[in-house]
Amino acid sequence: MEITKHILVNLSLLIILSFIGLIWFERKRNLTLSKWEAYIGLVILILVCFIFSYRPTPTHYFDLRLIPVLIGGLYLGIGPILCLTVIAIRGIYGINFGFYATIALYLPSAIILWRLYPWFWKQHSMKRVWVSVLVTFVLSLLTASSLLVSKPPINFYDAWFAYLVIPAIGLGIMSYLTEFFRNNILMRQTIVKSEKLHAVEQLGAAISHEIRNPLTAAMGFVQLLMANSLPRHKQKEYLLIIKEELRSAERVIQDYLTFSKPALDTVETLQIKRELQQVISILRPTANQHSVEVITSFALIGSIQGDRQKFHQCFINVMKNAIEAMPGGGQLYIETRYDRQNVSIIIRDTGIGMTKAQIDRLGEPYYSTKGSKGTGLGMMVVYGIVKAMKGTLRVTSTVGEGTEFIFQFPSALTLSEPHD
Ligand code: ADP
Ligand code: MG
Repeated sequence: MEITKHILVNLSLLIILSFIGLIWFERKRNLTLSKWEAYIGLVILILVCFIFSYRPTPTHYFDLRLIPVLIGGLYLGIGPILCLTVIAIRGIYGINFGFYATIALYLPSAIILWRLYPWFWKQHSMKRVWVSVLVTFVLSLLTASSLLVSKPPINFYDAWFAYLVIPAIGLGIMSYLTEFFRNNILMRQTIVKSEKLHAVEQLGAAISHEIRNPLTAAMGFVQLLMANSLPRHKQKEYLLIIKEELRSAERVIQDYLTFSKPALDTVETLQIKRELQQVISILRPTANQHSVEVITSFALIGSIQGDRQKFHQCFINVMKNAIEAMPGGGQLYIETRYDRQNVSIIIRDTGIGMTKAQIDRLGEPYYSTKGSKGTGLGMMVVYGIVKAMKGTLRVTSTVGEGTEFIFQFPSALTLSEPHD
């Protein structure tokens, strides 16, 4: 059972390292993997396979290098380059029968993987797992057959078992893990998007109301201008008013557009005062509708690192909740504090408040007390964004009195921040 034992060690190492890789990937802020990063990771796996391979003779290397090659080939489309890498590495270990066998197996594999990749991605998640297992099985069968030619001094039952069963199982596990992570990430992105769409819809309604006011005013003055032959200075005065009203309507639309634009995932230095003022101007129409007075107290400076769109989304969600918690109107306090290490943002409302049990459930997906009006995703998105921006969030609340959200983010040091 020497070969089986070695191959199992190979498999455990592959699974452990891939798991570490996936966790690292999951922690990455933007959840994208460049082909280079993937290539380097897979080459490390291939090298580990080589280092822990079973070598009954100097020309025979038994290991699972096929697995990283297939994962890279099927899932990332880098099969050909991985095949060439395997051939090159095997060449370093010696030009002998094993090397030629590697070429004989990996050159056709490179072509097969290259042709298979586009088709592979058109299949369903589960079918992809099965296809991976099947491809592994066929290629392992070819490898095992090569043993019949070279006849190394090994137990053939052992070799056949090690080659026909373990790689297929291994690839099944790795492929399943990959699909699982991928679906998880896709689902998370869909949830963020759907919460945003919901917010966009509601804001749209509130904002069109807000645009109507200046337009009505402008229209009134246009009618005045049309009806009377006014003195020149009056005409000018009215035109100026019309211009001002139209400009304010335009501003409302502009604010709305900056929020509803798709996110780009760019990290930049954000001046929190300026960003929060923008968020407040987006929400002003909704606050007015609910007779909520917005009271701000900003520290002069304070910057953090983060994605602008996400930052906006985070505070829109929190402030929208605060406004919705005050059905009969109230005050929404927005305060920022700054020190060398941290920037704090405090959002306080005088709304209905929450019980301890309700606070504990905040951020849980689909937890909402608003019936069909709520999605129960807003706070989940908030926690996700706070975590991605390396911040913390504390919530305190008293039923009937109000709620306080305290955000803390690491300060970004900027030397030349304008004091506006
Ligand atoms: P939704 O707003 O769609 O219900 P959220 O995830 O934004 O979903 O909020 C979840 C729940 O948390 C709300 O239904 C509400 O019960 C509670 N909540 C959030 N913010 C506040 C607040 N400022 N005051 C009172 N309750 C709140
Ligand atoms: Mg909400």
